[in-house]
Amino acid sequence: MSDGHQNQIDIARLQREIDELSLISENPPPVVTRVLFSEADLRAREFVKKLCREIGLVVREDAVGNIFARWKGSDDGLAPVATGSHIDAIPNAGKFDGVVGVLGAIEAIRSLQRSGLTPKRSIELIIFTAEEPTRFGIGCLGSRLLSGSLSLDRAGTLRDGEGKTLEDRRKTAGFGNQKLESVRLEPNCYSAFVELHIEQGPLLENENIPIGVVEKIAAPSSLRIELTGVGGHAGAVLMPERRDALLAGAEIALAVERAALESGSPDTVGTTGVLRVEPGAVNSIPCRAWLEIDLRDTRVATRDAALKRIETAVSEICRRRKITFALDRLNVDAPALCDAKLVQAISDSCDDLGLACIRMISRAYHDSLFMAQVCPTSMIFIPCRDGVSHRPDEFSSPEQIEKGVAVLAGVLARLSVDSI
Ligand SMILES: [Zn+2]
Repeated sequence: MSDGHQNQIDIARLQREIDELSLISENPPPVVTRVLFSEADLRAREFVKKLCREIGLVVREDAVGNIFARWKGSDDGLAPVATGSHIDAIPNAGKFDGVVGVLGAIEAIRSLQRSGLTPKRSIELIIFTAEEPTRFGIGCLGSRLLSGSLSLDRAGTLRDGEGKTLEDRRKTAGFGNQKLESVRLEPNCYSAFVELHIEQGPLLENENIPIGVVEKIAAPSSLRIELTGVGGHAGAVLMPERRDALLAGAEIALAVERAALESGSPDTVGTTGVLRVEPGAVNSIPCRAWLEIDLRDTRVATRDAALKRIETAVSEICRRRKITFALDRLNVDAPALCDAKLVQAISDSCDDLGLACIRMISRAYHDSLFMAQVCPTSMIFIPCRDGVSHRPDEFSSPEQIEKGVAVLAGVLARLSVDSI
């Protein structure tokens, strides 16, 4: 790639750093596993902080382990422009998800330093704690707390698989000196937030377009439903007498599909990803069933209407089948609309570099979903092979990464001087 003038990206160095970070893992390569506050997660944090300090960034951490690395601008009174992503990884993941937005941002800053830029606004890199939900069952833990989307009461109820609380875990990890309430950001503390990320879908690759500019981020909601019927011998209990928990669950799963298909929006997606049955024997009527349902759309009204329709169906199905149920809304987040001027600024940076881009929806959610509640936010997507992510064979080429980093550098340079 030739960008003709400034902001030359040292892609060989960045690729080496991506490879090196991938070796800090709970599993041997090519598998990357870095669960929040595991030994690997803590070592990965040290690796990244060292790179930041090497280029003069001022590093601080908050009470939940979010890392902030600031390149001080000439007018430090102005709200900084922020970028960043995450370095935690679900079990059996790859090396690019999140990492491209963190190490890529460091290289973007280095390229700006090499070009002789003096930012007016400070440029701040944020490495978010636990974007992945592995430990506490809730994704974007760090950015939820930064934006105030997760209440301190709710945070206090979080337990990991070993029964340890967030309070226990953050203290053991060395973040116990500050109180959790200090994490929340003030409104307008950043002028903008831009996250560079692999697409995790096939669209850019299929269209052969190097850059996606994210206009909307779909919001997830998830339900957990526990169904209790009456068990019995598969031979002895006649059909009219049955109160089969699995059959109610099966009807609910179909109702989820129907609610998504008939929402009136092609962007509504509904998935029943978990269905467990007790006692789970071939000659026994299922007496209990658990379902977990994920429902998303980019428009909150459409998503909420579909959610309501599912909940109504659950009561109707359970009444008819004489099944008792408990329904828990695990999370119901608001979708984010990206800031139009920021989206334009990213497109303009693509134009400057002669790179084609398309505007798109992020169907996966990211820390950007929550940063959008704090300041104008958007994302830069780059293609990844076959749209694969959350697997060891996740891959974006050096050329694809280089283009994303160049666009990020251009946007940061632009926003560090002007406001959007
Ligand atoms: Zn990610």
